[in-house]
Amino acid sequence: MRYISTRGQAPALTFEEAMLSGLARDGGLYVPETIPQMSAEDIRALNGLSYEETAFRVMRPFVGEGFTDEIFADLIAKAYAGFGHNARAPLVQLAPNHFLLELFHGPTLAFKDFAMQLIGQLFQEALERRGERVTIVGATSGDTGSAAIEAFRGLDNVDVFILYPHGRVSEVQRRQMTTPAEANVHALAMDGHFDDCQARLKDMFNHFEFRDTVRLAGVNSINWARVLAQVVYYFSSAVSLGAPDRTVSFTVPTGNFGDIFAGYIAKRMGLPIDRLVVATNQNDILHRCLTSGAYETSEVQPSISPSMDIQVSSNFERALFDAYTRDGAAVAQLMDELKAGGFSVSQGALQALREHFDSGCVSEAQTLDTILLANTTMGELLCPHSAVGVRVAEALRKPDVPMITLATAHPAKFPDAVEKASGIRPPLPNRMADLYERPERVTRVANDLAALESLIKERIHK
Ligand SMILES: *Cc1c(COP(=O)(O)O)cnc(C)c1O
Repeated sequence: MRYISTRGQAPALTFEEAMLSGLARDGGLYVPETIPQMSAEDIRALNGLSYEETAFRVMRPFVGEGFTDEIFADLIAKAYAGFGHNARAPLVQLAPNHFLLELFHGPTLAFKDFAMQLIGQLFQEALERRGERVTIVGATSGDTGSAAIEAFRGLDNVDVFILYPHGRVSEVQRRQMTTPAEANVHALAMDGHFDDCQARLKDMFNHFEFRDTVRLAGVNSINWARVLAQVVYYFSSAVSLGAPDRTVSFTVPTGNFGDIFAGYIAKRMGLPIDRLVVATNQNDILHRCLTSGAYETSEVQPSISPSMDIQVSSNFERALFDAYTRDGAAVAQLMDELKAGGFSVSQGALQALREHFDSGCVSEAQTLDTILLANTTMGELLCPHSAVGVRVAEALRKPDVPMITLATAHPAKFPDAVEKASGIRPPLPNRMADLYERPERVTRVANDLAALESLIKERIHK
């Protein structure tokens, strides 16, 4: 299995190489050259398997020769052992034909743990075998950073630097990033928004001298290995509702388009999915684009669902690549136009996107409303991101197709918003109840590429 860039100008890589490098050298994102297929029979055979066994069967064809079957199965087992629920991704019913996929039982209480815990294991194994070390730099709107730090803390051959927008993450998110004491963990609070953090990260990747000197690796949702790990729960949840003999739809609270793109890959592999519904908060660039074809950035408006406060959805490039029939030059041109503020998707490409994706956006007031309503009528306390999903799902779902809405974080990760909406302050699970007592360690940094690069060079273990 080879991986190619969405901009068509970088060499094809193996799974392991694509995972270790993150972004392609032409600025594009890696995607598999071909999508492995699962037949109806293959999918039916997942019925009754554990999450780990399902994960092995779904991901194995993408991973190639770098990892043996035995080692890969072992890394999957280690990745999910620390989850607080035996099912890993349990499904609960909200209403007739509407289900909630709880993806928040990992160590940092957000779905990011599914990918990050596995990627931590895969990195460690690959780097040890190669005798190499890397510097991981990540940009986060809150959850990626905490999940990355949790996955890489204390590893011998990795330094991990996380850029988050100062003052714009929740207290639980911040503490999860600033309280780990391991010397290889560096939390950096940057002036600006998430998009600024992500832009500086991309600049570092495009600055080849720096990239090569520190052996830069990325674990943002642009990393293909993360997308792949998220494909698994689309299969496990659909199978538990009767796939492949029953078609389901998914609604996904969306920011960077990574999670929902994993659903698209599941569909392309053969999982019978009717609609993939993009749910956004007031930062609705994806909803506007899928509605009008115009992908135009505007100012980020901070919301109560901060992990979706994004105006440039990096992984959307992967969907565009397919919608433009894998024409890397066309994608590169769109991305150039984006630097000047936006682009419009061609009629044909928009039609291709709409074959799979629907969308809806939700205001702040509606989000609060939905948290209250879901608690009183469905008996489920939702985090604000999950509430955005449930709201859109209720509006768009068809009565005869089961809808699975992804619950992307635990309500206790966003206690202020949940309390404001419902009057209930959700407690942290016991295993992290002392988070508020642990000492914090963080460095304030300016939105300045050169300053960031020299700080990183200074700090890395040599
Ligand atoms: C990251 C995140 C999202 C958005 O996921 P994308 O893959 O970026 O679309 C939604 N909700 C929560 C809680 C998140 O942490």
